[in-house]
Amino acid sequence: MNSNLPIQIKVVILGDSGVGKSSIILRFVYDDFKGETDSTIGAAYKGKVYQHNNCNIQFNIWDTAGQEKFKSLAKMYYRDATAAILVYDITNSQTYDGLKEWYRELKEFGPEDIILCIAGNKEDLVDSESVQLDTVEEFAESIGAYYKRTSAKTNYGIDMIFKEIANKVCADK
Ligand code: GDP
Repeated sequence: MNSNLPIQIKVVILGDSGVGKSSIILRFVYDDFKGETDSTIGAAYKGKVYQHNNCNIQFNIWDTAGQEKFKSLAKMYYRDATAAILVYDITNSQTYDGLKEWYRELKEFGPEDIILCIAGNKEDLVDSESVQLDTVEEFAESIGAYYKRTSAKTNYGIDMIFKEIANKVCADK
């Protein structure tokens, strides 16, 4: 086997509509941000090769492409996923409640040993934060998830999320 070939991993992004899922992907893959995004346009997935120490990873990141509005994603969305990023908007506590539902759905349909991350997105609007940090940290710990505030707008924390996933994947190799 050629050890230079990247390890292929599937990452799914879950969370209520408007929390910034597509924007996080856009920032990570293209280092770009758009003030207005069109939720109806979404490819099945976007790929990015990522070098982590001596470990080469290809992230295949699946976007919900607006389907999350109907609160039900095709089961194939979860199938064979290595990692899941659960996203909520730190200025909108309803999206934090939504995150718990997405977690329940993930437990039901996703692989048991999936790597979990929680992104508290829109960190640039931290002055309007409406979810207690302690509360999220406690929840993250209870489900064994890595938690980080992120901003797709400023690029804050985005790389940390993917680095954490890379760390876990590479540690297993
Ligand atoms: P999705 O429906 O979860 O995919 O969310 P989108 O990526 O479409 O983002 C919804 C809206 O939030 C858009 O207007 C984005 O420009 C905006 N947005 C996304 N991320 C951020 C962020 O980190 N900070 C701010 N201020 N706005 C953001």
